[in-house]
Amino acid sequence: MLLLNKKIFIYIFSVLLCSLICSCKTSLELIPISNNVPTLPVSGVVNAENGSFFRKNNTILCLSDDCILELNKDGYKLKQGTLIESTSSLKRKIKKIDYQTLFPSVTGSFSFFRMLIPKKFYVEDMTFSVKYFDGEKLQDSKKGHVYSYYEDSQINFYGVFLPFSPLYEQERYLLSININFRDGEKVVIYSTGLIGKTVYKEQTLKFPAKKSKDLESASRKKYKIQQAARHELWKITNQPLNREILKVVKPLDNMARMTSDFCFTRKWILNNGKLYSRDVHLGVDYGVPTGTPIYSILDGVVVSSGLQELYGNMIIVDHGLGLYTNYCHMNKRLKKADTLIKKGEALGEVGMTGAATGPHLHIEARIYGIPIDYRKLDCLPELFVVEP
Ligand SMILES: [Zn+2]
Repeated sequence: MLLLNKKIFIYIFSVLLCSLICSCKTSLELIPISNNVPTLPVSGVVNAENGSFFRKNNTILCLSDDCILELNKDGYKLKQGTLIESTSSLKRKIKKIDYQTLFPSVTGSFSFFRMLIPKKFYVEDMTFSVKYFDGEKLQDSKKGHVYSYYEDSQINFYGVFLPFSPLYEQERYLLSININFRDGEKVVIYSTGLIGKTVYKEQTLKFPAKKSKDLESASRKKYKIQQAARHELWKITNQPLNREILKVVKPLDNMARMTSDFCFTRKWILNNGKLYSRDVHLGVDYGVPTGTPIYSILDGVVVSSGLQELYGNMIIVDHGLGLYTNYCHMNKRLKKADTLIKKGEALGEVGMTGAATGPHLHIEARIYGIPIDYRKLDCLPELFVVEP
C-alpha cells in the first residue's frame, strides 16, 4: 500500500533473482508419436483433437479437447488448454478424472482448477505448482497442496485457487498438479490459460489536517514489520471448514456508497498539498457511518485482530484453501484472534482508524497472499455444481 515504489523494486528484484536461480522452463517440448497427431504446419497454432498423443522425454502426453499447441522453430509449445502426462498404463485411470478450470480468468482476480476423482482410485497425496509468465519471463510461482474440499459417496472433489495479482503485468499461467495414487502410480496434469491485463483508474485522496498529522508521524518501519507478518500469515493454507463456507454474504447491510474501487491507483495528498504516497488500492471501500456493523463474508477463523499502522483496527479471517479476508479502519474490533466465526457474524464496527479520510469499511481478500477482488468470490458456489 505504502512505499509502492520500493515494493515494486523489491518485487522486480525478486523476480530477476528467481529467474536467475531457477532458469525455469517456459515451454513443453513435445514430439508427436502416434497417428492421431493432427497434421502440423511448419509453424503456427494447432487445435489438437481429443485423444492425440505426444511424447515428452520418456512419458506420453495425452491432450484434452480444448488444447492448443503452438509450433515454432524451437518445437511445440502449450498455448492453451490442459495436458495430462502419464505412463501409458495410466490412460484408463486418467479418463476417469474430470478436470476443468472454473471462472475464466478475470483481471486482478482468480480462477479455480477443479478435479473430480472417483474414490476407488485412492489418492495418497496431491501437490501443485503454478507459474505466472509475462511473455516468456517468469513473474512468480506458488507451490502448495491440493485439497479435497468436498466428497460425496462416489467422488472426491479436489481444487486449487489460481490468483492473478493485479500487480503483475502477466499474460499466462501454467499450473501443474502431481497426483500420487496409493498404488504407487503418478499422474501430472498441466493446465494453462491467459490472464487479462490490468488497467488502473486514478484517484486522488485528500486527508484532513488531523489525519495528515497522523500520517506524517506514522512509522513506515512499523508498517513494514506488520506487512511482513501479514504475508507470513497469508502463506498458511488450511482446509476449508465445510462445503457451505464458500457461499458469500454481504459485509455491510448497506453497500450503496462505494468510495474506492479495487485497483484504483491512488495519490495521497496531505492538507499542506504534499504528496504522501502513491499506491494501488488492493481492496474495496464503502462509505458508511461510524458504528455500522461489519460482517464476516464467509465462515472462518479470526487469525489476527489488532491496531495496525495505516490499516487501523484490522481483523483477518482465514477461510481455508489459502483464502483470507481482511477488514480495516474499524472503530471497534469485536473479535479476538483464534475465534471461530460464522458468516454474517459481526466482527466489528465501521470507523476511520489509520489512513482514512472518513468513516468507511476497507475490505480485501487474499489467496496465498495475492490480492484479489473479494466481489468475485460470489462465483464460488459454482465449485459445487457438477454437470450431469
Ligand atoms: Zn481502502
